Amino acid sequence: MIVELKDVTKRYGTGPVSVTALADVELFVAPSEFVVVLGPSGSGKTTLLNIIGALDTASEGTVRVNGIDISLASRRELFEFRRTSVSFVFQSFNLFPALTAQENVQFGVDAAGSPLHPDDVLRSVGLADKLDRFPHELSGGEQQRVAIARALATNNPVLLCDEPTGELDFQTGIQILDLLQKQATDGRAVLVVTHNREISRMADRVVELSSGHVVSDGPPRGGKADVAELHW
Ligand code: ADP
Ligand code: MG
Repeated sequence: MIVELKDVTKRYGTGPVSVTALADVELFVAPSEFVVVLGPSGSGKTTLLNIIGALDTASEGTVRVNGIDISLASRRELFEFRRTSVSFVFQSFNLFPALTAQENVQFGVDAAGSPLHPDDVLRSVGLADKLDRFPHELSGGEQQRVAIARALATNNPVLLCDEPTGELDFQTGIQILDLLQKQATDGRAVLVVTHNREISRMADRVVELSSGHVVSDGPPRGGKADVAELHW
């Protein structure tokens, strides 16, 4: 398993105002697995991704990702971990508006351990002819492709996606999901968090979150659907 969370609890704040964002969460993801974490707003999805990506720390429990025990790692080890193990794709793309597609990807890999060439990755996501475009000259789907290229160019084995289709129309969303699923086929562990139940149908495994608790974990009910079968 490349991602292993055991008894992970996350509390924000202390005393009577403390919020339990995650409670005793167990989560395991293997390389090449496409896992969807499904839950409504406030159920702890972003908190979970941030903990797996070492952008936040668990209050209790063990977090092991790509062979490193994040809960015990030093600052230096965490810095190395972020460079070489995980990549993020966000709902709102988070591109730099003053940088071209190519420069956005280049910027994202400057700190990476063994990055791929930005132009090659942009080509692989279908943006060969748009390397020099600025984000405002690209559609939403194209901007998300740049963001995915930036994540893929780091060549890291775990891809963490926070509501990656949340700002896209249905058709574009499907194309992005297809692209993300290909990354799992290529050997990455892909985690997509969403409140959209339909997306969970294409997963190898669905982990349902409710108020910070994992309430179910298994293959999608009705079997794994092809991306082309999804509709919302
Ligand atoms: P989701 O991504 O599923 O919408 P979040 O992980 O963002 O959920 O939030 C889970 C819970 O933790 C919510 O109740 C939210 O208000 C709370 N929370 C998230 N981040 C913080 C924070 N930095 N400080 C206090 N509470 C937080
Ligand atoms: Mg969220």
